[in-house]
Formats: sequence, C-alpha cells, structure tokens
Amino acid sequence: MTHLLPVYARSKYTFIRGEGVYLYDKGDRRFLDFASGIAVNSMGHCHPHLVKALQEQAAKLWHVSNLYKIDGLEEFATRVTSATTFAHYAFFCNSGAEAVECGMKMIRKYHDETGNPNKFRIITFEGAFHGRTLGTISAAKKEKLMKGFEPAADGFDQVEWGSLEAVKRVICSDTGGILIEPVQGEGGIRPATKEFLQGLRKLCDDNGLLLMFDEVQCGMGRTGKFFAHEWAGVNPDIVSSAKGIGSGFPLGACLSTKKVGDAMHAGSHGSTYAGNPLAVAVGNAVMDLMLAPGFLDGVVEMGDLIMDKLQALKAKYPDIIADVRGVGLMLGIKMQPKYESKDAVEALRERGLLTVYAADNVFRIVPPLILTKAEAQEGLEIIDSYLKTL
Ligand SMILES: *Cc1c(COP(=O)(O)O)cnc(C)c1O
Repeated sequence: MTHLLPVYARSKYTFIRGEGVYLYDKGDRRFLDFASGIAVNSMGHCHPHLVKALQEQAAKLWHVSNLYKIDGLEEFATRVTSATTFAHYAFFCNSGAEAVECGMKMIRKYHDETGNPNKFRIITFEGAFHGRTLGTISAAKKEKLMKGFEPAADGFDQVEWGSLEAVKRVICSDTGGILIEPVQGEGGIRPATKEFLQGLRKLCDDNGLLLMFDEVQCGMGRTGKFFAHEWAGVNPDIVSSAKGIGSGFPLGACLSTKKVGDAMHAGSHGSTYAGNPLAVAVGNAVMDLMLAPGFLDGVVEMGDLIMDKLQALKAKYPDIIADVRGVGLMLGIKMQPKYESKDAVEALRERGLLTVYAADNVFRIVPPLILTKAEAQEGLEIIDSYLKTL
C-alpha cells in the first residue's frame, strides 16, 4: 500500500542512473530520453560540468536564506538578464508556478504603485498551463485542473487562443496585463504566431497593460533562442522561467524590466529557498553551457533536422499523423482522432524511447538540448518502427 498521495499515474519504470540523453532502469535497460523530465534536463543527465558545480557547492555551503548576500547570486542575475532583450531584474525561486505567481503579483503591484489599483485583471488563453497553485490554476481556467478546487481566484479573463479580436473584446478599465505562453506546452505544442505576439504587444502599449510571457517550458534555449519570444522580436515586461534553467535542479526565475521591477520593494515578495547557494551554483553552470558561442545555433540545427524527418513521417503515415509542429527542440506530433497520443507514449516507452503526452492528442518530443545527430536518428527510427506497426 502506498503512502504517497495518489496524484500521479506513474509508469512501472524506476530509473536509477542517467548519462547524457540516456536513462537506465533497475535492470540496466537503456532508454533514449526525448522527455527530459518534462522539458527540464536541458543539458541531459549528469552533465559533468553541472555535477562538478553541484558537488563542489555541496561540500561548501547549502543554505543561508536571503537574510544574507549569496555568493554567485548577483552574477547569476546579471548573466541571465544580460542574455535577454528586455530584462533588468531577476527574482529566483524554486519552480515554474512560483515564477508565474511572482509575475502575476508584479502586474498587480506595478499598477497599484502607479495609481491604478483597480487594474488587477489578467487576460489568459484557452489551452494554457501555468502551474498548480490556486492562482495559476485560476489563471489557466482548465476544468481538469480546477475541478474540486473551486472557487477560482478572481481576476482572470480567458479568451480563445490566437485571436486578437477576442483579446480586444475583454479588455476593460480593470485589465492590468496579458499572460501567455509563446509556445503552449501542456496545451499541445502550439506556437503563437509572430503577428499574434506583436499584436498583443501593441494592445498592451495602447491600453497601459503589462505583457507577461510564461516561458517556463519554451524558454531557456528550448526553441533555439534564449527565450522563445525572441523569434517574434517582441519585448515583454515580465517573463517566468523554470524547467531548463536548472537542468534538473529545482530552480525558477521571474524576470522583469526596470520599470516593472521598481514597483517591488524590500518585503514585497520572497521565498526562504529563493536563489539558494546550491541552485545558484547549478544555474551559473547551466549558463556557462547555454551561453557558450554556438550552443543555441546547435539547437536550431537539430530542431530543423528532426522537424524535416517528422514531416517525412507525416507524409509517410498520413492516416496516423495529423500534424507535426513546434520550434527548435520543442516538438509535437498530433495523432489522427482514431489514435490516442497517450498510447503512443506508452508504446514508444516499451521500445526504449521516452516522450511526453500533451493535450490535443499530441505527444511531445523535448529531448535534452545537447542531443547529437546520431541520437536524434536513433529516436526517429524508433518512432518510424512504431508507426509501421499501427
Ligand atoms: C511546467 C510549467 C509550469 C509549472 O512549473 P512547475 O515547476 O511545475 O511549478 C508553468 N508554466 C508552464 C508553461 C509550464 O510548462
């Protein structure tokens, strides 16, 4: 009998070791990991540079709280914000939901400090996922997340994905901001168009709203840019980040412009573990790798290569694959209605390839960003051999 709260439907596998893009179970069976712990292990498993950083820090100091200065924290904030096109401030936290919560609080605080305390409403989109706190499930408004946890927190207006007209219709005098994933992850790998993101920026500028991008999944190099919104050339006011930023160490970040961040003061927000020495050591080591010249170009190249092959598979199996979509190494395969993407995930796992289920009958290919051509080819062959059996 389990003493674990029964909130997960786990597969039967227990992985006990990881190396690069491979995981090994108790029987030492090898699996190719195109799931990355749900788009988290950006540098693969046990990258020697990250292991060294964590081990060295673990032998020195684990935790002191934010009552004191933390070695490496200022440097980490400088490196992360400097790698963006918009950010001046960084707040570090421990998860994606916390990063989103921080950003949503900043939208309210900014308007409160600038004389518009009524502007607390945030516009969100159908299909969104922002985390599992009461605030973030209220923002996503998904029945599956919200059922049994009502009443939802007030202040969120949801509109259909991709429609500027729908956004315009709900903007009112109490609207303070717009929150969107530039590429929806859980929603089924749905990239927003460049025009849509640019249109949102303009609506925000015209109506005095803040634009917040939730890049917990699509950011940190996943699409081949540091942040996915760079593909659209749009500067947000706030960005939430997590997943790939720690490559498996629990770490999140909320980034903002100077204008927005200046509304926050000592005591406005906080978290006991925020930016703790272990997290900062790993985060800086992730930046060493991600910001190295050519790293992101490699992600674009590998993403293009896989996308080409997926298009070919779609052409080969038009009765099985309905659509292939995504950017960089954030890819999704949408199955035709007579197939279930959940079944595909299970069958591929039995064949030694890990992928992740998403909504809209999609399964996700989100491998470590360090994937090589040979490894990509190996995974694509497993997918091809599986589709052949259907
Ligand atoms: C995973 C995810 C979150 C939540 O992150 P947690 O670390 O699970 O709290 C929020 N937003 C997006 C877009 C995500 O993909």
